[in-house]
Amino acid sequence: MSGDGVGAAIPSTMRAWRVCSPGPLAEQPLEFVDVPVPKPGPGEVLVRVSTCGVCRTDLHVTQGDLPVRRASVIPGHEIVGEVVAHGPAGSDSTTRFAVGDRVGIAWLGSTCGQCRFCRSGRENLCRASRYTGWDLDGGYAEYAVVAGAFAHRLPAGFDDAGVAPLLCAGIIGYRALRRAAVPPGGRLGIYGFGGSAHVTAQIAVAQGMEVHVLTRGEKARSLALDLGAVSAAGPRDRPPVPLDSAILFAPAGDIVPFALEALAPGGTLAVAGIHLSDVERLDYQRHLFHEKTLTSVESNTRRDGEELLALAARLNVHTHVTEYPFEDAPRALEYLARGDVEGAGVLRVR
Ligand SMILES: [Zn+2]
Ligand SMILES: [Zn+2]
Repeated sequence: MSGDGVGAAIPSTMRAWRVCSPGPLAEQPLEFVDVPVPKPGPGEVLVRVSTCGVCRTDLHVTQGDLPVRRASVIPGHEIVGEVVAHGPAGSDSTTRFAVGDRVGIAWLGSTCGQCRFCRSGRENLCRASRYTGWDLDGGYAEYAVVAGAFAHRLPAGFDDAGVAPLLCAGIIGYRALRRAAVPPGGRLGIYGFGGSAHVTAQIAVAQGMEVHVLTRGEKARSLALDLGAVSAAGPRDRPPVPLDSAILFAPAGDIVPFALEALAPGGTLAVAGIHLSDVERLDYQRHLFHEKTLTSVESNTRRDGEELLALAARLNVHTHVTEYPFEDAPRALEYLARGDVEGAGVLRVR
C-alpha cells in the first residue's frame, strides 16, 4: 500500500453518513454530514478509511431492526484503512501498529476482558462488548478510531476493496461454519448466498465439503455453482441429498423449518444472522427429532478474525465485490435489501 498519507495533515472535519432516524430506506434514514474527525483515546488509533464493506447488519441498524445503541451512529464495520495517528501514549496496544500500517476494523469493538466469557476464550458472548457501527461510530466516514487491541492486520494478497468483506462477512461465515459442525467431507447446505456465504462456500469447498446452495436470485445461484457448489436451488426447495449441516445466512425465519427438514439425523443448523424474522411453528417430529441441533452464531472472537484472515490468504479465497462511490451508501443498502448484489458491496471512501 502507498504511504502517501504519512505525515499528511489530519483535517478537523470529515464527511460521514449518520443514521439520523432509523426506519425504512424510502424515508431516507441516512444523512450525509460534516462532523469532527474523531480523536483517538488511550490505546486507540485513528484510521483514514479507504474502503468499507456494506453488511446486512448496517441495513438492520439503518432500518431500525436493531435497537438504537448510539444516537446518530455512523454505520459500517468492515473498515480498511491506514493508521494516521495514535492516542495518548501509555497503552501497550497502540504499539501494535505504526503510522502508515494498513489495518482492518471489524464488528467487535471492545469487550470487558474480565467476565467468565472473556476469560474462557468466548469473548463473543461478553455482555459488555461494544460493536463498531452500532455502539461505536463506524466506517461510512473518512476517518474512524479503533482500540489497537481490536484492530486486525490484513493479509497482503488482498486489495482494500477485496479484503473489506472478510472483516465481517468472512469472519461470521467462518464462525458459522464451525458452529454448523460439518463432519469431514460432509454435506453442507447454505441458505442465502450474499457476502458472507460466498466466502464461506469457498472455504467449505477447499476443505473438502460437499456444498449445496439454496437461495433466491439467479445471479447468486450461478455464482454459487461457479465457486464449486454441487447444486443450487431455491430456499424452499429440497436439496438433492439429506444435509449433515446447514447455515442460514438469509434473515428469514420462515426458512428455518425447511432447513431443519433437509437435515439428516444428527444434523446441525446454525443461524448466522444477528436478526431473524419470526420462526414459524416447528413440528418436533419433522424438524428436531433424530437429534437435530438448532443453534445461532453471536458475533466473533478476535481469534476467529485472525484465523479467517490467515485461512482466506492460504486458501486463495476470492471475494466478489461490487464497489460503490462513498456518496452512494444509501443506494448500496437498497441493492442489498433487494438481494440484488453479486457477492459483497463495498464503499470506496477514498
Ligand atoms: Zn467480558
Ligand atoms: Zn457485518
